[in-house]
Amino acid sequence: MRRVLLTLLLIACLTCAGCFAPDDTAIPDPVPQPPDSEFALNESVHPGDDFYAYVNDAWIAEHPIPADKPYYTTFTGMRDQVDNDLRTLLEDAAAAPESADRNVTLPGRFYRSGMDTGAIDREGLDGLSDLLAMIDAIDSRSDLTGTTVVLLKEGFDPVYYYWAGANPENSTVMVAALYQGGLGLPDRDYYFRDDTKSLEIQEAYRDHIARVLVLAGTSSEQAAADAETIYALEEALAAAHLTSEENRDLQMTTNIYTLAELEERYPAIGWETLAAIPGSGPVDTVHIYQPGYVERLNSLLATAPLDDWKVYLRYRLIDRASPYLSSSFEEEHFAFYQTALYGVPEMKPRWQRIVAAENEFLGDLVGQAYVARYVDPRTRDMVSGMFSAIRETFDTRIADLTWMSEPTKAAAREKLAAMGEKIAYPDRWTDYSGLNLSDSYMGNVRAARAHTFIHGPEGLEKIGGPVDRSIWFIPPQTVNAYYDPTRNEMVFPAGILQPPFFDPDRDPAFNYAALGWVIGHEMTHGFDDQGRQYDKDGNLRDWWTEEDAANFNNRTVLLVAEYDAFEVLPGLYVNGNLTLGENIADFGGLTIAYHAWKKVENGSADPAADRRFFLAAPHLWRANDREDLLRNQVLIDPHSPAKFRVNGVLFNIPEFYEAFPEIGPGDALYREVEERPVIW
Ligand SMILES: [Zn+2]
Repeated sequence: MRRVLLTLLLIACLTCAGCFAPDDTAIPDPVPQPPDSEFALNESVHPGDDFYAYVNDAWIAEHPIPADKPYYTTFTGMRDQVDNDLRTLLEDAAAAPESADRNVTLPGRFYRSGMDTGAIDREGLDGLSDLLAMIDAIDSRSDLTGTTVVLLKEGFDPVYYYWAGANPENSTVMVAALYQGGLGLPDRDYYFRDDTKSLEIQEAYRDHIARVLVLAGTSSEQAAADAETIYALEEALAAAHLTSEENRDLQMTTNIYTLAELEERYPAIGWETLAAIPGSGPVDTVHIYQPGYVERLNSLLATAPLDDWKVYLRYRLIDRASPYLSSSFEEEHFAFYQTALYGVPEMKPRWQRIVAAENEFLGDLVGQAYVARYVDPRTRDMVSGMFSAIRETFDTRIADLTWMSEPTKAAAREKLAAMGEKIAYPDRWTDYSGLNLSDSYMGNVRAARAHTFIHGPEGLEKIGGPVDRSIWFIPPQTVNAYYDPTRNEMVFPAGILQPPFFDPDRDPAFNYAALGWVIGHEMTHGFDDQGRQYDKDGNLRDWWTEEDAANFNNRTVLLVAEYDAFEVLPGLYVNGNLTLGENIADFGGLTIAYHAWKKVENGSADPAADRRFFLAAPHLWRANDREDLLRNQVLIDPHSPAKFRVNGVLFNIPEFYEAFPEIGPGDALYREVEERPVIW
């Protein structure tokens, strides 16, 4: 669920790293500036034809994709480092005596159970036997509804996602939220495209379903028939899904219903059962992201044969549990979800898979230990200084905008001033006192998920209560960052506040081009095509004059057209509308970071320094991607592929052209002045 939220709802963004104080008093001693020649540039590429390749080709050639990864990027190296740190920490915890602090023994026990492949293989499907028996015993429509809710509570999200979120129409109150789900393929479009590659994936998916069922004891003949039933049901659900582009439409996805209305309109969902989940806060209203999906689901729950649903739920449970089951299930899951979909040939080492599971299910528990051992206590203050410099620059630039009226400017600056920043780690941690773990890995995964479902950052206990501004949606060991429009805040975990994003001993040009870009990126999200629809308190409320909104939209048209023209693979183009919010943030982020850096450096006009800044920036997005992954990304990811995050942005920035006089009209990426959008 969290993954869905971060990619679709929170505009989970890039990332970023630590930094330094901008005050005159705190500027570090000048650092020797590396000359141009210190960049391993590909001189055979003209910078005006492909700046990304010009700067990054050497790194790309030296960092092939490891067999166990779908891609290798700057972020990947940082994630591997964090994983190594966590491994040390969890191995120590696993060896600690039972008498040690509970915050140590719990993660230790989870890790031990995950590494005990002998016990996991012996357990087989026993760890799911109660749930499988419940599905088997479904004998009525109310049994069916009840079972979907039990599976939901255990974290298997059988037909939708459900959690506590801020009410978009009143951002001080938490409401229940429901989001479309129920599919085994990554997105609804996978079921309906009919090009050769897509047809192959559809067939591979049906085969995968059948193989999972055979592993679970079904005869191969029956499994083949069941796979058709399951696929057909998923396809029917997929037809009612909104597309990833439609899901970015805040008006379309903001639909608040009372429980009574939902009971009347869609009785088969089981709203009263949902509201009665033990530990849930009082449910009066529900934020339904996709009413059309709920309508279809309701109709299928009420009319599709019970036997079809039983087959579907049994498969869905086992498939969702497969990464934590015995090796045959785990391998089959990997073979489809990594190899067939993204071309990844090998699994990550087992320890790294358990670290990933523990990050996902016990994030704050692991995070507390990580922060205590690995995070420099000075980090928060240092990064906070860089935030201030960038915020100040953004504020000045808004004040100076020529296309925005004074009332809208005033509101924008008020929103910027109110924007919260969370740096490195939370002040309060999720309470795990009610969680008990055993020696069974599957049992521990279920227990941790069930605990998170009620007590986690989006846990149901928060429904009906006030919005808690101390909550973090990703734990501190995460190498990423996000802006949350409903809370108007930026969150930068410790995992991202490290080299190469930030290094206190390095030329500030590098820090501003890397961490600074990401800070500017997240800040800009408060004012992108989605973020601008929220006010300073996080309410979905229009605070723009009509003319300003029209001006803004006209300026983004150029950006949509620019990205629409980027060809990722032969015949496959970036979707300029899907990626618009991220592209605005990339463009605004680097522009603001550049000017903040100039200010910190006392604004000196120095073409050599500017050159260095623009040569450093593309390092952030160095990437080697598998082709299958790229295809998937272009379809559903709101971020543009790495290459275009660089080439799309730089060629819109006037100072970039001044720093590189060798770039001019006639170069492949050169943009005439009137083609360059001016937004922030
Ligand atoms: Zn972003």
